[in-house]
Amino acid sequence: MKRRLPALAEQKPSIYDLPALEAILTASGLRRPALQRIRRQWFREGVPFEDVDWSGQADAVRGAFTESHLELVERQDSAVDGATKLLFRTLDGRMLETVILRIASGRTSLCVSSQTGCTEKCRFCATGAIQFFRNLHWYEILDQVGQASRLLAAENRQIRNIVFMGMGEALRNLKNLRRVITDLTTGKSFQFAPSHLCVSTLGLADKLVEFAREFPLVNLALSLNATTDAVRQDLMPINDVFNLAQLRDALDQLVQIRDGRETMISYVLFGGVNDSPADAEELARYLTGLPVHINLIPFNPDDASPADLSPSTAGQTATFQQVLRDRGYAVTRRYSLGQDVAAACGQLANRPTAC
Ligand code: SF4
Repeated sequence: MKRRLPALAEQKPSIYDLPALEAILTASGLRRPALQRIRRQWFREGVPFEDVDWSGQADAVRGAFTESHLELVERQDSAVDGATKLLFRTLDGRMLETVILRIASGRTSLCVSSQTGCTEKCRFCATGAIQFFRNLHWYEILDQVGQASRLLAAENRQIRNIVFMGMGEALRNLKNLRRVITDLTTGKSFQFAPSHLCVSTLGLADKLVEFAREFPLVNLALSLNATTDAVRQDLMPINDVFNLAQLRDALDQLVQIRDGRETMISYVLFGGVNDSPADAEELARYLTGLPVHINLIPFNPDDASPADLSPSTAGQTATFQQVLRDRGYAVTRRYSLGQDVAAACGQLANRPTAC
């Protein structure tokens, strides 16, 4: 059932603000067992608002809080794998996408967006080609989690992992990201283990170190994608600001800050650009001595992708992986779910089915 969202001017505090929610419920006379039940049902179990046992306070809660910050405009389910893309509209009319990933192992991950569009313009990414509007507020990011968990509860599934790899560069929205990570992992609401969250960055070296100091237990993924500054600069303009040497310095700092925990290195493979055995050797050299797990990601082109970028062949990918393995690295070849609904890595561009 579609609910009418309030206009921006009518917006009340967010229902995801647990201290404010509990203050109202406590003032209404609710005791600890009722508060615990409400927290569990609303934040953790994905119970729809109408079915939460609010102890008679549902109208008071609705009157005081904004229950939903995002309107679900369209849901696209993959016909070939366990991906579902959710297209949302914010109260001020901005579009964003969230992807549910039902992984073959039975676990469910959620890929959330942190911005509407993206400022970074990586050449291989559909999000980089659309207009950037703004950072998402903390409650808009939490609403992606809340709405997805309510959809999944109907399938008897729960979100196990949350990855900040959707639209936008999460570390450009550090203020809201801080609040989201804190609310997801501490206190009594969502209660995710920090190790079940992963923040991905294209390489904002200073913010990466700053974030790791604050949240050393949250997983980090660095999108590297090249072994020379020339190639990386061509793929990712950010390399003008933070080059490979600066990123290596940041990776060294992470080892100390995060007590030797692994950092994920994402490497999208492009045929004839960054996928030769020599590139693999250079990547192995660049990462020497670091606790890392390398994820090789297939390039997922679409109609708007640059003509000079194409996916690496299966043979090139296998050779690249083997070179790294021979150098002692843990390497995983990732399969991107949701390609048929443009929900795979690098494909998010706010496109409804009709487009
Ligand atoms: S890859 Fe990430 S940082 Fe780069 S344009 Fe796409 S969303 Fe932005």
